[in-house]
Amino acid sequence: MVNCPTCEKQQEWSTDNPYRPFCSERCKLIDLGAWAAEDYQIAAEPSTDDYSSSYDDPESKDHMDRPLH
Ligand SMILES: [Zn+2]
Repeated sequence: MVNCPTCEKQQEWSTDNPYRPFCSERCKLIDLGAWAAEDYQIAAEPSTDDYSSSYDDPESKDHMDRPLH
């Protein structure tokens, strides 16, 4: 018996199961989705920081004011 990594339900280890070590296609997709969501959060955090620091940069504000003068 093995535990499904997603729902931790005990299941028979079978080479006939194309979704192993998951118990079902649904659990396999949930696990892949969780990885994708984690990747997104790791990628999004530095870019949010980058955006706020360039927004506060006085040089970039000066550059934005220039067409008005
Ligand atoms: Zn499962």
